This record gives sequence, C-alpha cells and structure tokens, in this order.
Amino acid sequence: MTTALTRYGATLDDLAPLLAGEPRYRVDQLWRGLYGQLAELDDIAPLPVALRRRLADELPAALSPVTETTSDAGDTVKFLFELGGGALVETVLMLYPDRATVCVSSQAGCAMGCGFCATGQAGFTRHLTTGEIVEQVVRAAQRARAGGRRLSNVVFMGMGEPLANEPAVWGAVERFHDALGLSARHLTISTVGIVPGIRRLTERRLPVTLAVSLHAANDERRSELVPINRRYPLDVLISACADHVAATGRRMSFEWALIDGVNDRPSDARELAGLVRRIRPAAHVNLIPLNPTPGWPTRGTPPAGVRSFRDQLVVLGVNVTVRRNRGTDIDAACGQLAAREVTWQPATL
Ligand code: SAH
Ligand code: SF4
Repeated sequence: MTTALTRYGATLDDLAPLLAGEPRYRVDQLWRGLYGQLAELDDIAPLPVALRRRLADELPAALSPVTETTSDAGDTVKFLFELGGGALVETVLMLYPDRATVCVSSQAGCAMGCGFCATGQAGFTRHLTTGEIVEQVVRAAQRARAGGRRLSNVVFMGMGEPLANEPAVWGAVERFHDALGLSARHLTISTVGIVPGIRRLTERRLPVTLAVSLHAANDERRSELVPINRRYPLDVLISACADHVAATGRRMSFEWALIDGVNDRPSDARELAGLVRRIRPAAHVNLIPLNPTPGWPTRGTPPAGVRSFRDQLVVLGVNVTVRRNRGTDIDAACGQLAAREVTWQPATL
C-alpha cells in the first residue's frame, strides 16, 4: 500500500518529483514557506500562483480543525482535529512567560489501558502518521505566532503512547529539529515504559529528552496502575533508563501522578527515591496531582499531601518539581484528552 503524500508528511525528497520541471530553488522556497514562515500554501509568495494551486491539491492537509477552546486567560489553547477516516485527536498549546509548549498526540486513543487516563479509557483507534503529528505542531506554532510568540517546546504527552508508534514519531521529531529549528533538548518523549522503544531512542541521532511515566515504584502497584508493567517490569525499565542517561548524558525525568492513598504514602516516597538513585548522574521527578477523568473513581492527592510528598523526596535527596496544572477546566490537562466532540443535535421537526 502506498501512503498518499500530505503537506506536512512529505519529506524534502518527496517534494523534488512534485516540482520536476520547475527551477531547483522551488523546493527550498516551498520548504521555507511551510516551515520557516509557517505559511499556508496559498500564501507562499515566491511560488507562482498556478504552482501553489497545484501543490494545494497534491499536498493536502491531513487535519481538519473541529474546535478550539481556551482557558487560563488565553494561555492554554486546546485544539480538536479530525483525521482522515473520522478519528479525533487533541493538541494543547501552553504559553508560559519563558516558553511556548505544545503537547501533541501520537495516536488516536491508546492501547496501553492505564485506568486513570481518559485516553486509555477510550481504547485504541489508530496510529498517527508523521504528517498528522507535524501538522498539529505547525497549527499550534501558527497560533502562538498570531499572539506574538514563538513555539519553543514539543512534548509527546497528548493522546497515545509515542514509543508504540516510534517510526512515525521519530519522523516528526526530525522535522521539528531540522525544519522548524527546535532544539532537541526542547523535544520531550513521554513513555509509559516501552523498553525496546527507550533503547531505540538511546541509539537515535538527536538527544531528545526522555520522560517515563512511573506512578509507582514497586511492581505490584505499578502493574495495577500501568498494565504494561507486566511486560516491562521496573527492574528492566530502570536499567534501560540508566543506560539511556549514561549513553546520552541527558537528564531524564519521571512523571508521578499523585493518587490519594494509592501512591502518596511515605513508603512510596522511599521506594521512588530508591529507584531514582539508580539513574546516574541524575533524574528529575515531576509530581502532578491526578486529574479527574470520568472512568476512574480515585481522586488526586490534595495540595497539603502533594507538598508533604515533595518534602519527603527532597529530604531523600531527590530532585523534584510539582507541575502546575493547565487547562483542567477545559479537559486539556494531562490524562484528560479523550477527544469527545460535543455533537450538535438537530431539532426534530
Ligand atoms: N502515553 C504516554 C504519553 C501520554 S500521557 C505516557 O503515558 O507517558 C501523558 C502523561 O499524562 C503521562 O505521564 C501520564 O501518566 C499522565 N496522565 C495520564 N492520566 C492522568 C491523569 N488522570 N492525571 C494526571 N496525569 C495523567
Ligand atoms: Fe496511554 Fe499514556 Fe494514557 Fe497510559 S497514560 S493509557 S500509556 S496515553
């Protein structure tokens, strides 16, 4: 099966045959227009109008915008997109004083089945292509630029498990770095702990930042929260992380969604500190109180418990940050992306 070319899926090599018979610099003008200027095809001024029209037909966009919702006084923007075939995905742009970060989806749904995550609750629909991932980032970058901001960071923390769709994700990473000019350390791949995927990442040419969603530091509890732990248990996972840090020299982070009474006890802090010590020179822990989702009864740790858990980790020598939540009110926070469309009901006549 040949996959049809899409506007942001096409590589430089794919574009050359489309522009056969044109002066050679047209490929560069097109590439710079799409990525350097973040322009719509129709607005890439150096290209002749007839050529723009033809390219618009031959390089269709892969995403149709459905809705755009804002929160945090406009600093968080959630996009809902429809993919070819009708599946829906969400993308979140977060503007901070010092950076503009987009949280992208790598799959429609997710097959990993973590019960506390709205995406996991919805099940798996399909992998995204490189073009669909890149287009999410271009749309967010255009939105940031309309507000006078430059997109600086990409995190694969939207819908899906990026290392279960590693080839397409890596194609997108290369485009972010090579065409959009984003620094590799500002590209973060968050994984539930797919060990072969982590090992592949260690071998890749760009030192992107690795984040591992840990949530529990003993196998029994982790397998309940994150079923893939049965396939890649903690010992194997932490070894892959330690090797990654040793080989790349990059700092990595662990994500820990604090769940009331489940993983916020003193024994959890001690077990977590024990695992973090195995990563040399260092790993960072990001704490985030569990966000509410429709299909999970347990609540997030209240603020006092979050502070106490953080303080215990600090005493145990762990480098730890409490992450501020963005967009909870618009279901745009971590683990809340489920791409539910509010359907319009025609009135019965
Ligand atoms: N599949 C990847 C990336 C997408 S999930 C992964 O699991 O890492 C992005 C982050 O949101 C992960 O750290 C995940 O554990 C976390 N998350 C999922 N559900 C959550 C919830 N309800 N509250 C807070 N964080 C959640
Ligand atoms: Fe998938 Fe990550 Fe959600 Fe788990 S937390 S179901 S791996 S998206």
